[in-house]
Amino acid sequence: MSPFSLAGKTALVTGANTGIGQAIAVAMGQAGAHVICAGRSSCADTVGRIDSAEGLLLDFADPMAARDIFAKRPIDILVNNAGIIRRADSLDFSEADWDDVMDVNLKAVFFTCQAFARAALARNASGRIVNIASLLSFQGGIRVASYTAAKHGVAGLTKLLANEWAAKGINVNAIAPGYIATNNTKALRADPDRNQAILERIPAARWGTPDDIAQTAVFLAAPASAYIHGTIVTVDGGWLAR
Ligand code: NAP
Repeated sequence: MSPFSLAGKTALVTGANTGIGQAIAVAMGQAGAHVICAGRSSCADTVGRIDSAEGLLLDFADPMAARDIFAKRPIDILVNNAGIIRRADSLDFSEADWDDVMDVNLKAVFFTCQAFARAALARNASGRIVNIASLLSFQGGIRVASYTAAKHGVAGLTKLLANEWAAKGINVNAIAPGYIATNNTKALRADPDRNQAILERIPAARWGTPDDIAQTAVFLAAPASAYIHGTIVTVDGGWLAR
């Protein structure tokens, strides 16, 4: 079997109704996985694009929302993709914009990883976790205080969990997407000055697409990456190299 095949595996992708999560779900389906497409909105569109898939409603407004999912059935691959962003000057940043982003982008990621790993270890099974980090896991950004704090946290947790679980057969890694054309970046792309400044700084000279991220997620879930632990792979058109 190809070392890049996910045949026989079940993958759960959060935020799979649109954007990067949808592309990852479709790519994992194409690689042979059965895909559980989780979203706070219906994932019917994504499910319809995959040979073997199902939808699951999962809203991380409750960061513990995934606590009971993994004990019910074997799931081999977890992709923590769901995420939100709030923009405001730090002088004006509200507690709600802090808490909402931290809950979805950081607290839910940790406790979903915990629930996944507990269930996998109880079954004596191996597992793969792919967290979606950000360039703002490395850089400061601007006007996105809670997002930057949460994504730095995702990078740290990815390394910490890899340290704890690598020897137990669970690979924990992350992808740091660059500037990808999705709902998340609509406001940036709609601002001509910001859009131009971003494009001028990307060596690849274009916005990324969700498909640019998807195959990296497949790789990090596949046998080919068995010895990769605690890594944050940047897929950014060269942005961080500049
Ligand atoms: P997106 O199109 O806005 O997708 C975000 C996904 O998260 C959607 O499926 C959204 O569901 C879901 N979500 C939001 N709040 C949720 C909640 N409370 N419970 C469950 N799901 C929730 O943006 P995207 O760019 O694909 O973002 C996916 C991930 O990539 C995020 O973690 C983001 O931070 C990260 N990222 C994106 C970029 C980029 O340039 N686009 C760069 C770096 C990192 P709804 O559709 O229902 O809102």
